[in-house]
Amino acid sequence: MIIVLKRNSSDTDVATVSDMVASLRYQPRVIRGTEQTVVACIGDELSHQSLEVLRNLPAVESVFPVQKKFKLVSREYHPNDSVVEVRGVKIGGGHMEIIAGPCAIESYDQFRTAVRDLTACGIRIVRAMPFKPRTSPYDFQGLKQDGLQIMRDIRKEFDVAMVSEVPGPDKIEPLLELTDMFQVGARNAQNYDLLEQIAKAGKPVLLKRGLASTVEEWLTAAEYLIVNNCPQVVLCERGLRSFDPSTRNLLDLGAVAVARQLSHLPILVDPSHAAGARRLVPALSRAGIAVGADGLIVEAHPDPINAFSDAPQQLETGKFQAFLDDLAPWIELARKERRRPEPA
Ligand code: PEP
Ligand code: MN
Repeated sequence: MIIVLKRNSSDTDVATVSDMVASLRYQPRVIRGTEQTVVACIGDELSHQSLEVLRNLPAVESVFPVQKKFKLVSREYHPNDSVVEVRGVKIGGGHMEIIAGPCAIESYDQFRTAVRDLTACGIRIVRAMPFKPRTSPYDFQGLKQDGLQIMRDIRKEFDVAMVSEVPGPDKIEPLLELTDMFQVGARNAQNYDLLEQIAKAGKPVLLKRGLASTVEEWLTAAEYLIVNNCPQVVLCERGLRSFDPSTRNLLDLGAVAVARQLSHLPILVDPSHAAGARRLVPALSRAGIAVGADGLIVEAHPDPINAFSDAPQQLETGKFQAFLDDLAPWIELARKERRRPEPA
């Protein structure tokens, strides 16, 4: 950490700050400038107590952390892209994957038709959501137990991997046998207890960015998973809450580029929850691929107009091949780009 002292600090002030730094088991190095004095503090910020408490001292102007709050997710720790495998399907490190499926499982027929249509287009991982955390308690919350039974039946018929959102720790166990990847939703992106419990389950995790999480908070949430022995983490940008209702959420493409530079973890873009409108999904999908995402997670329903949740944004599973065909040249171009070294 770097501690900047106020202008005209006395030698006594410098000594007081240095003594406090030493008492917190960092080594203080005093750097005297012409106008201001700075104390550089040497020590591992991740294993030592934070020096931010020194902000309260009258002689201190500011305290800057130097180390990042995340280590295991960072490129310094693991320079090459990591590859996450979901039931044999690779994501990351040049493996681009399009995940698709309905917002929620609504009935046996609805889910079966969706999976049939999507697997016919080559989709290898489907959204399988028996639990739906909703903003309003009056909205459709998913079929729950009945949804689990539908997943069980569909798994027998189709050779496809499934990703399922875990809204709370008590849903880990019922989903454990049925799903191949756990999703942590945007509303739970900073539920650290849930992240720790999910990590223990030992499955790959799709970690959505919170509605108002900074990139640092998003990556630090991923650190919770990895530090708890769950290295199979895929990040997902799904748009932030913004002032502008033109889109449901503000797709933060810059954050995808930043996260790719800071972290080795694969990143998906969710164009559906960002757009909130079917007609915008193709454009946001192209943008996500172009900015460097390792794939997409797209909502698709056999009869979107009559969907129980997120009806305006779901693509039609029967027309999904046309969506994929339009996207194909962009994916091809992004793959070629990936083979070129990133500019520093
Ligand atoms: C979802 O993917 O089903 C979902 C609810 O998304 P988010 O958590 O990003 O809102
Ligand atoms: Mn949805």
